[in-house]
Amino acid sequence: MRRPKCVQAREVAAFMVLALGAAGCGRTQPDTRPNILFVFSDDHAAHALSAYREHLAYGAELPATPGLDRLAADGMLFVNAFVTNSICAPSRATVLSGQYGHLNGVMTNAEEFHPAHVTFPALLREAGYRTAIFGKWHLKADPGPRVFDHYEILRGQGPYYNPTLRSAADSASWEGYTPDIVADRAMEWIDASAENADTPFLAMVQFNAAHRYWDPGPDQLELYRDAPVPEPGTMWDDGAGRLFAGRTPEMTLELDLFPRDLKLEAPDNLTPDQQRAWDAAYAAENAEFEAMSLVGEALTRWKYQRYVTDYMRTVAAVDANVTRLLAHLEASGLADRTIVVYTSDQGFFLGDHGWFDKRWMYEESLRTPLLVRWPGVVEPGSVNHDLVMNLDFAQTLLDAAGVDPDAGMQGRSFVPLLRGEDVEWRDAIYYQYFEYPGWHMVRRQYGVRTDRYKLIHFYEEGGWELYDLERDPNELRSVYDDPRYTDVVAELTSRLAELRVQYDVPEIDPVPHREFVAPENLRRPEEDRVGHTSH
Ligand code: CA
Repeated sequence: MRRPKCVQAREVAAFMVLALGAAGCGRTQPDTRPNILFVFSDDHAAHALSAYREHLAYGAELPATPGLDRLAADGMLFVNAFVTNSICAPSRATVLSGQYGHLNGVMTNAEEFHPAHVTFPALLREAGYRTAIFGKWHLKADPGPRVFDHYEILRGQGPYYNPTLRSAADSASWEGYTPDIVADRAMEWIDASAENADTPFLAMVQFNAAHRYWDPGPDQLELYRDAPVPEPGTMWDDGAGRLFAGRTPEMTLELDLFPRDLKLEAPDNLTPDQQRAWDAAYAAENAEFEAMSLVGEALTRWKYQRYVTDYMRTVAAVDANVTRLLAHLEASGLADRTIVVYTSDQGFFLGDHGWFDKRWMYEESLRTPLLVRWPGVVEPGSVNHDLVMNLDFAQTLLDAAGVDPDAGMQGRSFVPLLRGEDVEWRDAIYYQYFEYPGWHMVRRQYGVRTDRYKLIHFYEEGGWELYDLERDPNELRSVYDDPRYTDVVAELTSRLAELRVQYDVPEIDPVPHREFVAPENLRRPEEDRVGHTSH
């Protein structure tokens, strides 16, 4: 089944009808609870959002994100927003449930999130909100009707072009760029919801950008051409100061970016018109690349440029669609009574340490961008440095709506921080990553981060790392064995044990070791593994 992509003209017409309808309806007892627009992107690192640039000690000067910067200027930017587990499905399950993966059941991308599990959208819906979700879901079983009045979700990761969106009623195929279509579908639902203006809504808009394979949209294919992206300061870090040397995890710019990642191969589902635009953007550059026959550092530098340029092009698509969503709220008169949250499911390495991808407890992947606009409550242009987490979203959004949280939720409402109140806040966060063996072969790890230090335990190998983030913000050298840090190690080891008790972390890791073999086209050649293992 193919339906046409919804067009601007249709949105304008829908608006006018709704505006007229709203003007004529007689309201009693208006519901003053705020609407919530929760915009969630995928793998969008904070250092790829220009409003974060002045707050972070790592990264490179990447292209600007004017739409998101505007949202930051209108709201609050959280410098220290972190995730419980830096990977897609577990982050999503934590956002919905307000629980760590060992309690909500999603510790890796392999587990299913049970449709009956308590979630904040279900509680909002029970309290009278209209709820909907669009785009990437990634939790296997569809969300039950108890959770969302309406959903249009991708299967798994979903393609960047011509997606199928599954709803309770059907599966619809759309032609166009997925982030644009996801925003279109959300705006259409928001318009329809505005018919019930007395009932607030929760709309979760979840882009599959900027995930691998970083396929730019038709409006972004030409961006940043002939403008080399600066390299991050740690791009040539060899990992000598850490337990697992730079090449051991299979996420290196050097060995682990494959032809499809590097656009030496195109997506396989483009229409003839899309294919022509794609080839116009890449064919000449690719021919030039083949002719150069680069090797060694020059080849790695080329791969970095191609990777980060395309990644930032998909970020630009997110940025453009956030701008459209905000303009839509304003045009429909909803902006003043709508909380807008922008965040990502985790961060990402953008050539930092010579890597791409996420999973590690290191800053680039642990941190996620978080911007919140709440007219009349949040001071525009404010910046917060408290340690907040994706674990807190459920309780925060319920609190904002005046709805009680579930007793099993493990986060904390940061509404007081949004109000600018001076409250006692948490001194440390707990992190755990379970997916080994698996994609990119990053070891299982748990740890604690405070405002100054980070202690990481690679619990299957028995190794420890300690970073002094004030003296070593790039985490280049573990000081775990440095006698000057003996007291810090003792204190953090004890704090880590307390957090594991506080969050009910099971003593025995509940995730079995599953055999993992990457598909042929995404597998590092066997000969490159030899001699590059460590510890
Ligand atoms: Ca992700």
